[in-house]
Amino acid sequence: MAKYNGPVCKLCRREGEKLFLKGQRCFSQKCSFERRGFPPGEHGRDARFRRRRVSDYSRQLREKQKTRRIYGVTERQFRRYYRAASKERGLTGVNLLRILERRLDNVIYRLGYAQSRAQAQHLVTHGHFNVIGRRTDIQSMVLRPGDMIEVREGSKKRTFFKELPDLAEAQMVPRWLDRDVKKLVGSVTQLPERSDIDASINDQLIVEFYSR
Ligand code: SF4
Repeated sequence: MAKYNGPVCKLCRREGEKLFLKGQRCFSQKCSFERRGFPPGEHGRDARFRRRRVSDYSRQLREKQKTRRIYGVTERQFRRYYRAASKERGLTGVNLLRILERRLDNVIYRLGYAQSRAQAQHLVTHGHFNVIGRRTDIQSMVLRPGDMIEVREGSKKRTFFKELPDLAEAQMVPRWLDRDVKKLVGSVTQLPERSDIDASINDQLIVEFYSR
């Protein structure tokens, strides 16, 4: 399935929770979910008054969709990550989240060098980053411990990157990453633990979805 390019706030409303897809706007009064916290569509408003029995399948599907939307990956990519995760040792659900967390766009977002994963994807596809010393535009690249990311010298002259150190400083970095905001570099120091990853994701439901 092709990548979704529609209004992302609808995705939060569809999933019934904030997915934080729009950076600072998500924490402001302008957040659509705060103002219209019901599903999108003609009958979305009425859905609040309907009591529907939610099947196991529906819960599993929604959890998978929610996770896919948070990380901004297509169904095909997500399924590929799941297959890779199931071949690794350990819990498949945790392995899957570890792979998603180590995607280049997510690492840039976690380092505070982008306000959202969507912005990180945009910056990567425009070639503003080097990974292990080489320019890349592959947002889906999965990084390993020891890999280093840096903003390219030419890109540092741009206004966005000149202002970035002050913005990034305010953002906490997970313990599996290391960064130097002044130089705009960062590195993966270890594999993320489950406790480092979004606790609102129920990875077991995703495993159940693909194990049907
Ligand atoms: Fe979701 Fe952010 Fe839009 Fe709010 S502003 S609905 S959290 S994407």
